[in-house]
Amino acid sequence: MNASTDTLLSVLSVAKAFGGNQVLKDVSFNVQRGEIVGLLGPNGSGKSTLLNCITGFEAVDGGSISLSGQRIERLPAHRIVQRGIARTFQLPSMPTKMSVIEVALAASTGQHGVLATLLGFPTLRRAEEEARAKAERLLDELLLAKVRDLPASALSGGQKKLLGIVCALMGEPELVLLDEPTAGVHPNLRRDLVEALKRLNGQGMTLVIVEHDMHFIRDVCTRCVVLDRGEIVASCKPSKLASNERVIQAYLGGRHNPHELEEHTR
Ligand code: ADP
Ligand code: MG
Repeated sequence: MNASTDTLLSVLSVAKAFGGNQVLKDVSFNVQRGEIVGLLGPNGSGKSTLLNCITGFEAVDGGSISLSGQRIERLPAHRIVQRGIARTFQLPSMPTKMSVIEVALAASTGQHGVLATLLGFPTLRRAEEEARAKAERLLDELLLAKVRDLPASALSGGQKKLLGIVCALMGEPELVLLDEPTAGVHPNLRRDLVEALKRLNGQGMTLVIVEHDMHFIRDVCTRCVVLDRGEIVASCKPSKLASNERVIQAYLGGRHNPHELEEHTR
């Protein structure tokens, strides 16, 4: 697979097993700058594991992962964040004592904080103020402004997902990986989430989104990559999914009826 100069993420022949369970077999795909790629596949096909490998939460057994041409597959997770990849989790858990705004601020990577304020370093104080302003803006964009002072653990599952996205965006990432962002999110909030993600993409952010909701995928994704039992079986536009034989096979075990796929993935 050729990586062009516009290739932001390049995954090449990545393999990962847990004991005797070969979860990722020979996974290769590229993400170009500016794309919004949907990462699809039946439950257990390896989507979250792939995100974990890209972000350094799991070590790969083989293959390589590059960001802007630089190998990252042996870097620890915090270095990968520093290189510009942020992520959310499929099942976010939140600290019980911290408020929503405090959790957002804790995800900020800038050099600032209480010490800076106490010592009175003007540059650091300004960084602190900027981080606060950014947290407030993101909470507002993702409809969490009203709950900013509640304990983060008191949020609904869907709101925790949104707060996870706020945290991912606090560090100015170039690439954001979202693991099932709409699962548990109220339908009214989904529209706002779609708008927020498109806006971020318009500002130059590249996204990879694990998602099952076909409406969301059609609205948001520019391309889809489909995993089946640890192998990439398709890469196509969302509109071509329902007529892609290998996608049908992955979801329906080989029963060739695109209408059923539509229903399954609706
Ligand atoms: P998906 O996100 O596509 O639903 P996952 O990547 O979560 O799939 O899981 C793929 C397979 O890997 C499943 O069989 C799952 O049980 C296994 N798996 C994932 N994480 C671990 C782990 N930390 N230890 C052992 N098995 C795991
Ligand atoms: Mg998953």
